[in-house]
Amino acid sequence: MRKFADDTLLVATHNRGKLEEIVTLLAPYGVRVIGAAERGLPEPSETETTFVGNARIKAHAAARASGLMSLSDDSGIVIDALGGAPGVYTADWAETGNGRDFVLAMTRAHDMLIASKEPQPWTARFCCTLVLAWPDGHDEVFEGTVEGWFVWPMRGDQGHGYDPIFQPLGHDITFGEMDRWEKNRISHRADAFQKMVKACFG
Ligand code: IMP
Repeated sequence: MRKFADDTLLVATHNRGKLEEIVTLLAPYGVRVIGAAERGLPEPSETETTFVGNARIKAHAAARASGLMSLSDDSGIVIDALGGAPGVYTADWAETGNGRDFVLAMTRAHDMLIASKEPQPWTARFCCTLVLAWPDGHDEVFEGTVEGWFVWPMRGDQGHGYDPIFQPLGHDITFGEMDRWEKNRISHRADAFQKMVKACFG
């Protein structure tokens, strides 16, 4: 396992919600964080069919283009009653051709759950794969999950993406209603981060 031995980390995402969470999660480690958009890096196409495949594309493209150590996050929600959908296509379900619309994406998932006639509660999990890539092509991979339920109607206006329909196990509020510190303690991203920090930032 290679250690992180630098003072700057490029975060290979153009997703502002994710970037804010990653900046908060990295705050205790004294690392200077730069976003991919800030560096003017293009968003590579996510052509793989797994979280790790797409996370590798993003991290290596950013490390190659910038010469900096780069961290990518590929994540999504897996809904059991939909056979694991939207999974790696979580962001795609929000595409409108004119930006992303997550209310539309969450409504689509709910419509499909109703059509499936699968009984409630609808179990689901958020998954996160982090890839830390070095400019020489080396990488380290970390995975995290948080179990819970797809709930309806949407609740809360905190967070980003599908937060208003996800209620984590052991809580009676959604991620959309949850204080961001609490979400950053229990989320899929926090789970993957804890593993990365333990392995590479020690
Ligand atoms: P990608 O990793 O860029 O392919 O996008 C993953 C998508 O999953 C995001 O656009 C969000 O819609 C969703 N997602 C990932 N993590 C979270 C989260 O913590 N809360 C809500 N939605 C999330």
